[in-house]
Amino acid sequence: MLKKHCKKNKIPVKNLKIAKFPFGMGDLPRYDLVGNQFVERKSISIKSIRIQVIPHKSQRYETVGDWMIDKRGAITIKVSDMKNWKYNMLVGLHEMIEVLLCHDRGITDCIVTNFDKAFKGKGEPGDEPNAPYQEEHNFATGIERTMAAMLKVKWKEYDDAVNAL
Ligand SMILES: [Zn+2]
Repeated sequence: MLKKHCKKNKIPVKNLKIAKFPFGMGDLPRYDLVGNQFVERKSISIKSIRIQVIPHKSQRYETVGDWMIDKRGAITIKVSDMKNWKYNMLVGLHEMIEVLLCHDRGITDCIVTNFDKAFKGKGEPGDEPNAPYQEEHNFATGIERTMAAMLKVKWKEYDDAVNAL
């Protein structure tokens, strides 16, 4: 699977962002970045999405929300518990939107995770202008903010809870 290739070939993070640019949008979903080459992709059909709330310390790396897709098309989203179901599910919703868009565009778990792990700046790695999933992250944030308004969640308080983890 791509994840193994990605690990084996140790793709330099600086090369990951090119995944979005060499093809027109219509072409992108048919390609994956393996090593430094684009290869035609057999698209996995999504069958299920599961959002799990877990202790923050159990995340794979320093993040509040994480997603992965297995070979059978089952998406697992892991959210750090903030002891507030609305906050937890807002993160889950964000991740759900993001993973579906990334999957459609050939931006894999491996690409996102490598970028996130290498990120040293402040705030969220997805907010970085060179994040390989920036557009998908921004759209997810838009939906998340809309839902937060309907749940009467104050964005500042929610954001503080996320940053306090
Ligand atoms: Zn995001």
